Amino acid sequence: MLSEAQIAAYQAPENLLAERVIMITGAGDGIGKTAALSCAQHGATVILAGRTVAKLEQVYDAIIASGGAEPIIYPIDLEGASSEDYDQLCSHIDEQFGRLDGLLHNAGILGQRTPLNNYRSDVWEKVMQVNVTAGFLMTQALMPVLEKSDSASVVLTSSSVGRTGRSFWGAYAVSKFAVEGMVQVWAEELEGLGSVRINAINPGATRTNMRMQAFPAEDPGTLKTAEEIMPSYLYLLGADSANVNGQSIDAQPHR
Ligand code: NDP
Repeated sequence: MLSEAQIAAYQAPENLLAERVIMITGAGDGIGKTAALSCAQHGATVILAGRTVAKLEQVYDAIIASGGAEPIIYPIDLEGASSEDYDQLCSHIDEQFGRLDGLLHNAGILGQRTPLNNYRSDVWEKVMQVNVTAGFLMTQALMPVLEKSDSASVVLTSSSVGRTGRSFWGAYAVSKFAVEGMVQVWAEELEGLGSVRINAINPGATRTNMRMQAFPAEDPGTLKTAEEIMPSYLYLLGADSANVNGQSIDAQPHR
């Protein structure tokens, strides 16, 4: 396996994702939007999942304008989606494509930045639902179509506070620890079984709305853009990581 520094400097071949079907959650904004554009640019047919259709439509238009394969818009609110909704999603993908080659769980919410002593239970539940449970339910429901791919990659999104706890990061930090754990458990279960691999990615400080919400006083100009962290995403979603399973990759290893 490449080192994290090598992965961060990975130069994806232009056709890396040709003929691949890749679903991205939270594809309307921030890192997910850039990942969708980048996957399409590298040949993928992208399923744009998210809760704000107007944003997904903008990404759809941008992909078409740049000559990418026609994407699919799949509106879904991860806060309220049930197992049945994910089963339906699986049937749609099966009918339309017969398989799924990549699944990037990117959608996430920050919740409150406050001591756990004061943390609201309703916010806790929402953060755990969107950041952890939705990833579990969706991956579980989509396993039949992932297994139909000759080499499927599932990527869940972690964070630095999912590796070392930090005060006032509340449910967000706990949810990202859970993501790391889920990847380890699932990866060991999938190892040697078939063609599905699962890894985590930690984007590192990246210039998005979420980062601005977390650090309102920070100068965004000092941060990497989502475009700059794409090499690690493309590496994990493409064939060059076919043997990588159960890893948690820092997209910005030197920060
Ligand atoms: P943004 O807030 O910019 O984007 C998050 C995306 O998730 C949006 O498209 C949003 O949709 C979508 N989303 C949120 N809730 C739901 C929901 N209930 N159902 C469907 N979609 C939803 O965040 P980033 O791009 O910064 O973050 C992407 C991922 O990277 C997250 O998992 C985050 O935790 C992680 N991360 C980010 C870092 C950073 O510095 N930016 C650092 C470490 C980790 P909508 O546009 O409709 O609100």
